Amino acid sequence: MNRIRLLPEQVANQIAAGEVIERPASVVKELVENSLDAQAARMTVEIQAGGRSLVRVVDDGLGMSRDDALLCLERHATSKIRRAEDLAAITTMGFRGEALPSIASVSRFTLTTREREGDSPEGTQIVISGGKILEVKAAGSAPGTTVEVRQLFFSLPARRKFLRTEETESAHIQHYLTLAALAYPEVAFVFQRDGRLVWQLPAVKAGSDAASRLAALRERLRALYGGEQQLLTVDYSAEIRSPDNFEDTTGTPSSTHFRLWGFIGAPGVSRSTREDQHLFVNRRPVENRGLNFALLEGYHTALMKGRFPVCSLFLEIDPAAVDVNIHPAKREVKFHREAEVRRLAAQAVRQALLEFHAGKSEPGPRKPAAQGAPFLAVEPAAAQADRPAEQSALPNFPVALEPAPAQLAKPAAQQPPLRMGFSPATPASLPTTSPESPTVPPGTLSPEGQATHLTHLIPPSSTIPRPPLPGEPVPLLKVPLRLVGVIGRLYVVLESDRGLVLLDQHAAHERILFEQMLNRLEQNDQAPSQRLLLPETVELSARDASFLREQLPALTRLGVGLSEFGERTFLLDALPPFVKAPDARRFVLELVDELKAAGRELNSLRLGEHTVAKTVCRHAVKANDPLAGRELEGLVEDLRHCAMPYTCPHGRPTLIEMNFRELEKKFGRTQ
Ligand code: ADP
Ligand code: MG
Repeated sequence: MNRIRLLPEQVANQIAAGEVIERPASVVKELVENSLDAQAARMTVEIQAGGRSLVRVVDDGLGMSRDDALLCLERHATSKIRRAEDLAAITTMGFRGEALPSIASVSRFTLTTREREGDSPEGTQIVISGGKILEVKAAGSAPGTTVEVRQLFFSLPARRKFLRTEETESAHIQHYLTLAALAYPEVAFVFQRDGRLVWQLPAVKAGSDAASRLAALRERLRALYGGEQQLLTVDYSAEIRSPDNFEDTTGTPSSTHFRLWGFIGAPGVSRSTREDQHLFVNRRPVENRGLNFALLEGYHTALMKGRFPVCSLFLEIDPAAVDVNIHPAKREVKFHREAEVRRLAAQAVRQALLEFHAGKSEPGPRKPAAQGAPFLAVEPAAAQADRPAEQSALPNFPVALEPAPAQLAKPAAQQPPLRMGFSPATPASLPTTSPESPTVPPGTLSPEGQATHLTHLIPPSSTIPRPPLPGEPVPLLKVPLRLVGVIGRLYVVLESDRGLVLLDQHAAHERILFEQMLNRLEQNDQAPSQRLLLPETVELSARDASFLREQLPALTRLGVGLSEFGERTFLLDALPPFVKAPDARRFVLELVDELKAAGRELNSLRLGEHTVAKTVCRHAVKANDPLAGRELEGLVEDLRHCAMPYTCPHGRPTLIEMNFRELEKKFGRTQ
């Protein structure tokens, strides 16, 4: 007995709809994608009741002839690809030829379309209900296409039940529209919800060159979010080469161009969800775990635990190097060279964050603003360097204020009168690109030295400075700061010509120590260590002892002289000079506790040097007395020389700024 039969078309469509059309936002997504593929310059999206009762998308795109309008409702009918090979080089949003028939099979559906380039003054209208064509007629309409989807899932009560509140469904729709609007700034978008206008985004003129695309994206972001977002520019290119012995079964070309561009939140700008993390691959909004990780990796210590970056990043890569056909709703992509893409993306983000502080993203050439008020760091560098270390509340705290070699080499006229870090870091001033530049002496922490340490992997092509964009923030540590005082023995109050600045003394100190430590490790292979006059033994529980044993190599390299002295006993005989531990035993016990806590987060037995360094620094900072006058100035100055000064090694902010606009708002002077 034959039991297999082909499903009727309508059932097949409903099954496809089950995958493609999950909720009203999927309808919006498919319709908007179609309008974008049809080269619309303007589109209006209207929804009612979270898209359950109505989704209407009106575009002024290419439109369709009567025949095409009928054909587009057939399954696997598409104008976007012809052959299987085309799947490897998709440049349109759609290609599966499934969306329209799927939507039409689960709603009351009306398509009205008229060819933009045709000579007929009339268009075509097709009315479908639950997949059945009710009417096909000529209809007066403007060139372009209107699709109206009413009563989604009316024939599938089970499906309807799965829908969430109108509020939630609307939020999903708005999220998708945000993505589409970011990817296509040159398209004007109008969004109406329940008869109310939500957005009216004017078209942004965009050329095809990198700078004008960035500027267009910036403008679209401003239209969507206002100008308050502190964003940094990312623009990073590299080649992904296949290894020589790479057996190519995927059709990936031997070398693929990789470019990541867009904007990321400045250090300290983050959210508790991924909601404002917008990632695109070849202009398609995507979800990709590798890219998510790359972002977190790129931010590294500039992001607090449990927080997510804010970004709009566009990855451009040869379409043959990415598979967009792994998800029915085309939401996910798979890279053929996943690890490489992830590594480069992290590097792109990291470089943008480092450049921000190095001053490359400053808008326009800046005059040293030090003329005028008695700003911080009035002390000449040499005088500070002469300051006897013992007088400082930070014992042996390296003063490190010698002008960096690159700055010495510059003509005097270009030099700011005080070392405020104003000299724009041109590629020539980075030791990375000039091999003969003198090496930074160990213990000297200059921004340039840091840049060497952290950017040595970056291909030279990507270090070419990009013309600054209007609206990019001037990093806080690039403007002069005046010391006002200290509150709560912890928060340093400063003032800039932009407003109020608060500095968390401990967080800042931690960051400085952390970078100095890593910097020295990089240069010396061993952080400095001071022998204790009275070595002490510490006995631990068996569990703690075996945990600590795992961390000994890292601790030794970081200058903490701990060694095994018995089954469960350790000998502490040296400490990094900046760690003031009056009670050595307590120091070890606390260190073990803190390392254990860090280890639980990482879920690994042996902690890396970075993690151990973070912990040692935090401990060192805790032991410090409140600072005063000179030392505070030194602290800010040292912070200026960090590569990632705006967050402590755990990602908490070191500085908070409240500009005059915000102050005026708070005092009710402005709205
Ligand atoms: P796909 O987008 O994968 O090709 P769809 O079912 O979404 O499949 O659309 C089928 C076809 O209908 C498209 O290939 C396109 O030719 C045509 N089409 C759909 N929407 C529009 C539109 N808004 N303007 C012009 N043509 C459209
Ligand atoms: Mg489509």
